[in-house]
Amino acid sequence: MQNSIIDIEKEALESIEKASDSEQLEQFSIKYLGRKGELTKFLRNISSLPEDERPSAGKNANILKTKLEKAVKAALSKIEAYDDKAFTGIDVTLPGRFVQRGSCHPITQVAKEISDIFLRLGFDIAEGPEVETDYYNFEALNIPKYHPARDMQDTFYVSENIVLRTHTSPSQPRAMEKTQPPLRIIAPGKVFRCDSDITHTPMFYQIEGLMVDQNVSFGDLKGVLTTFVHQFFDTQTSLRFRPSFFPFTEPSAEVDIRCVMCKGKGCRICSKTGWLEVLGSGMVHPAVFENVGYDTQKYTGFAFGIGIERMAMLKYGIDDIRKFYENDLRFLGQF
Ligand SMILES: [Zn+2]
Repeated sequence: MQNSIIDIEKEALESIEKASDSEQLEQFSIKYLGRKGELTKFLRNISSLPEDERPSAGKNANILKTKLEKAVKAALSKIEAYDDKAFTGIDVTLPGRFVQRGSCHPITQVAKEISDIFLRLGFDIAEGPEVETDYYNFEALNIPKYHPARDMQDTFYVSENIVLRTHTSPSQPRAMEKTQPPLRIIAPGKVFRCDSDITHTPMFYQIEGLMVDQNVSFGDLKGVLTTFVHQFFDTQTSLRFRPSFFPFTEPSAEVDIRCVMCKGKGCRICSKTGWLEVLGSGMVHPAVFENVGYDTQKYTGFAFGIGIERMAMLKYGIDDIRKFYENDLRFLGQF
């Protein structure tokens, strides 16, 4: 009798091992554990055994019953896990995985658009460091120690003589030290000031421009900037040059354009004046030329600085500069 229970165990475990799907396992359960199964039959026949063999035979049969039930359960979950895996791996009816396409940030797009206009006018692109020395950021540009632009309120100081550049203008002396005239460069890049509100962010973008040669006049400045404004906005946009002051240009002029929103009638954007200030410009101050060793008798030049965010805001009618840097895809996706 003990032998037959060992036989059942051996045979049953081998069958479980071989079962490759849930149907086979089901048949196996019926064969051994069902109402007419081998093990059930064995348990029923225990009463026919000699009295002294009955307790151990019953005990062994029950242990085997539990063992087989567990084995069936384990084999079944293994088969189901495998089935799930195989199913997801080959379901060709599922839609493909969608990869969202990115696009250039509106500031990058506008910077490129502005650069392209000047490249067509024969300007080259120059670059300078964002962490700049006091000398290039201020001194070389004729901004002396007491100038308000150096105020701690505006400038991020890294150390006494190192600053985060407050404008792209340091690109001017850096380029002039390396190259003799004629020189035509633009320098796009990040600049930094301690300032944050609806029209200011602590980091923003500028494009610096510089042209130096013999006989460069204010007329050339007006011609180049008018061409730029006409290409960037449209040829109907009128400009005006308003006297201003910058330490590194003389004479200096702010450039205003006819309000692109109200076409000069007066609105909230232009504070009812009909005009919008878009850039600063002027003839390079002789002191700047002297700092880089240019002959001030021979050469003249003009320089200008454009705020890229400002141009993007006017072009696309954006009323808050901070929207550019909030990383909101609903905003950025529109460009
Ligand atoms: Zn207006």
